[in-house]
Amino acid sequence: MAGSRLGVMGGTFDPVHHGHLVAASEVASLFGLDEVVFVPTGEPWQKADRQVSHAEDRYLMTVIATASNPRFSVSRVDVDRGTTTYTIDTLTDLHRQRPDADLFFITGADALAQIVGWRDTEHLFDLAHFVGVTRPGYQLATADLPAGLPEDAVSLVEIPALAISSTDCRDRVRRGQPVWYLVPDGVVQYIEKRGLYRDGLPASPPGQ
Ligand code: ATP
Ligand code: MG
Repeated sequence: MAGSRLGVMGGTFDPVHHGHLVAASEVASLFGLDEVVFVPTGEPWQKADRQVSHAEDRYLMTVIATASNPRFSVSRVDVDRGTTTYTIDTLTDLHRQRPDADLFFITGADALAQIVGWRDTEHLFDLAHFVGVTRPGYQLATADLPAGLPEDAVSLVEIPALAISSTDCRDRVRRGQPVWYLVPDGVVQYIEKRGLYRDGLPASPPGQ
């Protein structure tokens, strides 16, 4: 679609939860986005300290969670690249696939604050507008952003309080507590079916 406005929601999605979905929906409404594409990471460098579930499991949970929304889709660009995911690569690939689209990269306040750590930061802002969403426990003011960001490169948006995190969802499953209503119903069932998060280790790859 020529001139479309495309949201890009990157994440580990281990598992995807209603915080992610509300953030995407809210930013889509505020910024008049035509579509939001969720992009599960390949091998996330930020989380080298813990075992992340297989990309295929995280991809499938994201597909299940977004299936009912006609404006949400899921991209395999990071999963298929198969290496550590850098936002610059995600945006470069999506720009190549959708050269006419204006990209809006949606990221949590916690991630945005690490923006200076990203490679090729200047080029990043040529590729997309950045939307930082606040989640409970993270106050974000323009003054807290790294100095020297291009003007108008970043917008900050408050999302209705949703104190949900993937970490808490994983801990709940491990302790045998429910995750109903924190994640979409189909994701609850997928976690159960695949035995994810039970012992803190990734289940074997899907299909094995
Ligand atoms: P983990 O607890 O494993 O770090 P997470 O809940 O932060 O997981 P990610 O997959 O790391 O989930 O998040 C993807 C993006 O969504 C990040 O930019 C993150 O800041 C944002 N995000 C996560 N949870 C929320 C929430 N409840 N509200 C708004 N944004 C969120
Ligand atoms: Mg996180």
